[in-house]
Amino acid sequence: MTDFLSLENKVAVVTGASRGIGRAVALELSRRGAAVVVNYHNSAGPAEELVAQLTAGGGRAAAFQADVSSFEQANALIKFAVDTFGGLDILVNNAGITRDMVIMMMPEEDWDAVLATNLKSTFNCSKAAVKHMMRKRYGRIINIASVAGQMGNPGQTNYSASKAGQIGFTKALAREVAARNITVNALAPGFVDTEILNAMPEGALEAALKMVPLGRMAKPEEVAYAVAFLASDQAAYITGQVLGVDGGMAMM
Ligand code: NAP
Repeated sequence: MTDFLSLENKVAVVTGASRGIGRAVALELSRRGAAVVVNYHNSAGPAEELVAQLTAGGGRAAAFQADVSSFEQANALIKFAVDTFGGLDILVNNAGITRDMVIMMMPEEDWDAVLATNLKSTFNCSKAAVKHMMRKRYGRIINIASVAGQMGNPGQTNYSASKAGQIGFTKALAREVAARNITVNALAPGFVDTEILNAMPEGALEAALKMVPLGRMAKPEEVAYAVAFLASDQAAYITGQVLGVDGGMAMM
């Protein structure tokens, strides 16, 4: 079956695609034929380089700067995708940050920043995207949550709450839009080898990997393959689910 997991003629927006998991997702969706909007916030150079790489390989891609925690900027991002590529089929809510600290020491602004960047962005982009997907009676929304949202993580009350929030959001929206042939799913990665882990204290990663049955971090591509599957026509009957990509860390 040659078109298995093909994304030909699909248009995708990947938030936070300048680096890490988002970058790997953009590469994989493009490799499968989708036109990809590479959203970034601060990393303009890497985002433009990625677009150059995708277009040089014959793909359709464009970069768009937006802070997705802003309702207006998230709307502008979705509008850009529709205006540039003529529609929107796939939204990957990937942009995320950490601001780790035990609750006694956590400043209010670190709580607010993490909730706005990780959770409100998911609302902002999904609300704008669903408008187009409803009309088209087709859509795939994939939210990059985390095992932290399932298991909790000390020093990450803000991050864990944002990720658990994304999971609840995923289930509620999946029920809302199912009748319009739009699926909404979440991924819960464990430890993935990206810059976000640089904030972990010395030795903490080695200790944490002892909780991972497969005994190693994931490569960003290993998350991207799961996104590509959930974005495909073959995943049409899967909605409201949380797929662990965590080396067996959280067996729910
Ligand atoms: P990363 O390497 O630090 O990359 C984060 C990306 O998010 C960057 O492209 C960044 O863009 C973008 N971003 C941050 N704030 C943004 C904003 N306000 N608006 C738009 N884009 C924004 O992190 P990562 O590991 O790839 O993480 C990606 C997602 O996976 C996050 O949601 C994270 O919580 C989740 N996750 C990661 C792991 C892990 O172990 N790595 C595990 C579980 C879940 P700029 O550089 O352009 O600012």
